[in-house]
Formats: sequence, structure tokens, C-alpha cells
Amino acid sequence: MNKGKKLYEGKAKIIYSTNEKDLVIQHFKDDATAFNNLKKAKVEGKGVLNNRISEYILTNLAQFGIKTHLVKRLNMREQLIRKAEIFPIEFIVRNIATGSLTKRLGISEGAVLEKPLLEYCYKKDELEDPLISKEHIYSFGWATEKEIEEIDKITLRINDLLSGMFRGVGIKLVDFKIEYGNAWNKDTEKKEIVLADEISPDTCRLWDVKTEKKLDKDRFRKDLGDLIPAYTEVAKRLGILHEQSNVTAVNVTKLSSVKKKSK
Ligand code: C5P
Repeated sequence: MNKGKKLYEGKAKIIYSTNEKDLVIQHFKDDATAFNNLKKAKVEGKGVLNNRISEYILTNLAQFGIKTHLVKRLNMREQLIRKAEIFPIEFIVRNIATGSLTKRLGISEGAVLEKPLLEYCYKKDELEDPLISKEHIYSFGWATEKEIEEIDKITLRINDLLSGMFRGVGIKLVDFKIEYGNAWNKDTEKKEIVLADEISPDTCRLWDVKTEKKLDKDRFRKDLGDLIPAYTEVAKRLGILHEQSNVTAVNVTKLSSVKKKSK
């Protein structure tokens, strides 16, 4: 697999072409941004952690039949993914009220929602990703009714699976954002809807079950402390970082060669 030219650069990731037309490479950067790029920083090691965490989550979802863009992780910062035409919509699921929901509607912070709340935002940085209704999506042709019906079902199933996965390691899945795209399936020779982008502590709100300690990007948004120890904690609890990780510089002592005893 050869890495080709840069196709797109976003706030946290870069997409490169490959020599296969239906595959691209997703590179995770260390850049952290919030409030539509008003707050920015380089957080060394964040890209490495998000690459691993997102790989783990998407692989697990795939085992439950969720179609995703992930083919395989290539190295510490890159994944091989299926090329997808991304819907210009952010799909947000909320289980507990916080963030923009409390600001917008005055709902009490921390209120547990009776059922998961699905929201749609139009992916447009210049407009600060405004909240939209399904009617906007259909009126402006951003997705069809059939596509949204299918995506809503997959999204609620993902919420169930992720809530269980995190609950099992003492973390509440408060809310999250996901994206979808249409990708070519070479077996069926048809396009299909796949989960795209990433699922990581950059795109989810994750609270410790007992202490409600924030283990996600709100630490950066609200100056609650370093991101790396929190993201590492998430990775360790998920059982990803049981081996020595490369996130912090690791001292590798040079191995001295072992001479074979001649008989
Ligand atoms: O800010 P808000 O409360 O609307 O965010 C809801 C969820 O969506 C949070 O988990 C946040 O991290 C995620 N999100 C995101 N990217 C955006 C907007 C929100 O990952 N552009």
C-alpha cells in the first residue's frame, strides 16, 4: 500500500490517497481545538491515543455487525480506511444533559435523559456547525429520508453498544458525535452507509462512574487538566494499553547481542 498525496486536512486528522482508488489513509494529528478553532494547542501523543482508541471501538462495533470505514490500523498514527462520501451532518447522541444542550435550552446540567436524544448539526465550520432538523436535511438534499431512517437506527444501536462497553469499565457515556458516509462495497457492487471518522475521547463525553471525573476533551475545553493522562486512563480501562505504549518517550536500552555457544 503506497501513501499518496494529501486529499484533505481537518482540525484533528489528515486524509491521504493510496494507490487503491477505494482506500485512503487517515492520519491522527496531535492538534486539539475547541470552540470552532478559537482555542488551539498541540497535545503530544493525543493522535496516537485516539488512533488506538478509535481502532478498538470501531473494531468492536464491527463485531456486532456495524459497518464501518476501518480496514486496519497501519501504525501509531495512521489507519487504512474505505473512501467514503461523508454526509455533511454530525449525528449527536445524548444520554445525560450537558454542553450545548444545557446552554441552548436551559436543561439542568447532569440531568439523565429519559431516552437517548438524537440531534443533527450541519457540518460547516464557517457557520459553527448549526443545529438542524430532519426537514433541513431533506429540503437541502444532505441525505434522503431512507438514509436518515437507516442512520438513526444504527446510531441508537451504537449508543447501546458503546454505553455497555464503557459502563463495563466504570465510565458513563454522556454524549458523543459520529459521522457517516457512503462507501463502495466491492462484494455487493453497491454503495453502503458506513460509520466514518473516529470515536474517541475527542468526540465523546466520558465521565468516571463513581467520581464523575471528566475523561474527555472537556478537560481541554474547560481547562480541567491535561488530556493525555485522561485519554491514557480510557485506553487502559478498555484494555488497549496493557503493553508499554509509545505515547510517552520510552527508554529503550540497546540489547546486547547474545552469542550462541558453539558446541
Ligand atoms: O458541544 P456539544 O454539547 O453539542 O457536544 C456534544 C457531543 O458531540 C460531545 O461529546 C462533543 O465532544 C461532540 N462533538 C464533536 N465535534 C463537534 C461537536 C460536538 O465531537 N464538532
